[in-house]
Amino acid sequence: MSIIDVRLLYQTLGMIAGVKLLYCGMCGDFRAPNPNPDIWTTCRCGESKVRWIDPYAGTLSVDTSNKDKVRVLGLHNGMIRASMEKSFNSEQWREFTEYLTSEAEGYLFHKDARNCPFAFVRIGESNDTFFEDYWQARQERIRLQKERDAKQPETTEEATST
Ligand SMILES: [Zn+2]
Repeated sequence: MSIIDVRLLYQTLGMIAGVKLLYCGMCGDFRAPNPNPDIWTTCRCGESKVRWIDPYAGTLSVDTSNKDKVRVLGLHNGMIRASMEKSFNSEQWREFTEYLTSEAEGYLFHKDARNCPFAFVRIGESNDTFFEDYWQARQERIRLQKERDAKQPETTEEATST
């Protein structure tokens, strides 16, 4: 394969957006958040929960009984895609990793930051991970739903009276 082909291949595989997983240090579980932001995903021991705030923006929130015991693991998408679609040898993996980390400007993966296509982060250490209180968030969703339900009949009345 020529150098140009390699570069093209890496560019198609090298999308930066990543997968984020909750790691609960109390039970050792890794959990992927549900794509639906209204649904929390709980680890095996039940002490940590995660949900997307906005799956498209990659913002995520975590609730836990012990803030020192949870991390988010970010995985570079290019790494995941390559592992599914290619069978690189070790040298190709090193070259690919070098490419991913040098192209990941503004991300923790970047060679001037972690220099690694995986990154364990404390919640709040990156600008897209937050702590959120599960019950408070749940109450807020219930309140918003009640607001929407309360508005519904008014709209119907207006519609029928005109
Ligand atoms: Zn747990």
